[in-house]
Amino acid sequence: MQTVEIICRKCGADTLLNREAVYEGFAKVGEKLTCSSCGFEYASEADVPFKARKAAPKIFTDADRSAKVEVFDEGENKRICRYCANYIVNPFTQYCSLHKKEVQATDTCNRFEQVSEKDDTKSLF
Ligand SMILES: [Zn+2]
Repeated sequence: MQTVEIICRKCGADTLLNREAVYEGFAKVGEKLTCSSCGFEYASEADVPFKARKAAPKIFTDADRSAKVEVFDEGENKRICRYCANYIVNPFTQYCSLHKKEVQATDTCNRFEQVSEKDDTKSLF
């Protein structure tokens, strides 16, 4: 006989289900499903409050984890104004020719355009 865990609807106990075969003569005609704590009889299998066997619910889902992505990774570091084709620097200001405004070398924006292959590594810093 297998043990089946239930949360009894009648007494509320976290207990086991008693499953007894019911015979009529020699023929098994059904099963008697009762709470092993209080003896409450369940009318049918569908009526039995089986204890959930699922694993404990996850507190943190994948959705929660990906909600906050503000840390710059290697790729994003390269999207700063410093490396943008629209970034213009002169002795007085740093300027974005696309947005027509003053920027910082470390600013980022979604209109970043990779500067074309020119060697500017020595012109700054
Ligand atoms: Zn009970």
